[in-house]
Amino acid sequence: MKRVAVYPGSFDPVTNGHLDIIRRACGIFSEVVVAVLHNRTKKALFSPDERLELIRANLKGLKNVRVDSFSGLLVDYMKKNNISVAIRGLRAVSDLEYEFQIAHTNRSLYNKMETVFLMPSDKYVYLSSSMVREVASFGGKFTAFIPRNVARALARKNREKAV
Ligand code: ADP
Repeated sequence: MKRVAVYPGSFDPVTNGHLDIIRRACGIFSEVVVAVLHNRTKKALFSPDERLELIRANLKGLKNVRVDSFSGLLVDYMKKNNISVAIRGLRAVSDLEYEFQIAHTNRSLYNKMETVFLMPSDKYVYLSSSMVREVASFGGKFTAFIPRNVARALARKNREKAV
């Protein structure tokens, strides 16, 4: 049986922690859809198209993954695409309460839905997109934790901001 899972998130921008979760998910599921949330009310650093492209360029070599974007409720996206499993990354206990809330809320909206939590390598436990954005905005280098195209894109954003 084909087991498809969606990995939803903002990915603003994608980090090595996200890519670690994607690789692990690809080893478990027959197909993984990385779904970039386009939240119209939350200001993101990168546009949905930029975020999609930054992810896509790092998935070469993985055969069972594709990238998509969505807006609105995750459960509506899942119902429409006939997907019942969502993957979330769990870094530390501090993620748990928030993730529990989301998982139970989602299930109350779509009772067939299962949320599967995957843990990244311990190298990435303290890594988040918001930390990456913050460090990059002050010109800091985070190269061990982000793919090269993301480092370049962050530097470009900083230059645009400076003019
Ligand atoms: P959000 O959906 O809260 O904006 P993100 O888009 O950053 O979060 O992340 C999407 C998913 O990836 C979430 O489940 C988040 O917990 C997880 N995640 C984020 N950073 C990491 C990391 N360094 N290691 C593992 N999982 C992560």
